[in-house]
Amino acid sequence: MAIIITDECINCGACEPECPNNAIYEGGVEWAISDGTSLTGNYTLGDGKSVGVDDQNAPVEEDYYFIVPDKCTECVGFHEEPQCAAVCPVDCCVPDPDREETEEVLLGRKAALHL
Ligand code: SF4
Ligand code: SF4
Repeated sequence: MAIIITDECINCGACEPECPNNAIYEGGVEWAISDGTSLTGNYTLGDGKSVGVDDQNAPVEEDYYFIVPDKCTECVGFHEEPQCAAVCPVDCCVPDPDREETEEVLLGRKAALHL
């Protein structure tokens, strides 16, 4: 499963620098696939849609930190456990039951993000 941040987030910012995929953003901030990666050109999202890696995309949440599902690998390939969840002081980084993903999918995403 991808990790999601719930509305219990207190906007402390502790999780953001811990993410190996630059998948975490402050509420209200636009995000791009290229942030924190060396990708160029286009990138295919999990839903099959192709986007430019430098495209600025609308924030997922406005009022608290959020995780871009297409950039989260649950830290697979980097760490034993999700680093955002490990550092969050209020335990609001939790598995998203609506996005169950296999380790194979997560490793594939890691490979795609870090060429
Ligand atoms: S689980 Fe890992 S990859 Fe996903 S948002 Fe948290 S720190 Fe980033
Ligand atoms: S560590 Fe937790 S409380 Fe702090 S910004 Fe991240 S999700 Fe929100």
